[in-house]
Amino acid sequence: MPRYDYRCLNCGALFEAQHGFDEPAPVCPQCGGAVKRVIRKAAPMLRGMAAPVSKYATKEELRAKWAEETPKLRKKLVDKLGEETVRRNAPTLGDA
Ligand SMILES: [Zn+2]
Repeated sequence: MPRYDYRCLNCGALFEAQHGFDEPAPVCPQCGGAVKRVIRKAAPMLRGMAAPVSKYATKEELRAKWAEETPKLRKKLVDKLGEETVRRNAPTLGDA
């Protein structure tokens, strides 16, 4: 059964109640007053892996970023490994 957070509109008490989602809201356990559902804050965004993705939100932005970064990455690899090695081992990077 789902759990819900409630705040009493009368005395401000915060409490958690467990009931079916189609059942009516309970009353305040402190004073019996009417209560209002409190929406729990979503868990904070995961850092690290999620950050670059959220930074470039749309597909177009991602594609643009990829197009911008790929030649740089390729150049870095060419500088390090040589043109031939890159051509042979990373054909997907293509020619800039
Ligand atoms: Zn109350």
